[in-house]
Amino acid sequence: MSKTHLQSVANDGKRTGAYCSWLAAKRRCTDKKSKDYSRYGGVGITFSKEWFKFENFLRDMGERPEGKSLDRINGKKGYSKNNCRWATRKQQRLNQKPTTHCRRGHKFTKKITHVKNSGKRSCRICEKIWYNNNKERLLRKKRQDYANNTY
Ligand SMILES: [Zn+2]
Repeated sequence: MSKTHLQSVANDGKRTGAYCSWLAAKRRCTDKKSKDYSRYGGVGITFSKEWFKFENFLRDMGERPEGKSLDRINGKKGYSKNNCRWATRKQQRLNQKPTTHCRRGHKFTKKITHVKNSGKRSCRICEKIWYNNNKERLLRKKRQDYANNTY
């Protein structure tokens, strides 16, 4: 391990790009309280034991290049030396298979595709089903919030 690597870790309070990526990825896979855990650790995406030490991660990956983020080459596999690279968003998108159906299997036609501000697609049929299933609860919660604020 080189001296510069150690220094980039030791700078008090200063978080390098690599450190942020490392911490975020580790949390997604290992911290049940992480909001993304259900999509990572919860579905078996692992985080290399060796990489629990940031120094090892930095040794394998190097500092994060400008404009790039930590990408898993095979989306079904975990975070490890062999399955990770620094990639631009464009590279990451190219690597993903285009989805033709939503999670419940509705085909993404023009009519049912709802493109969100984030660029992600969502299915209008599912949105409607979700809304209908949660309508009562949402209304109840609204009333409850209102009541709580009033008393
Ligand atoms: Zn759907």
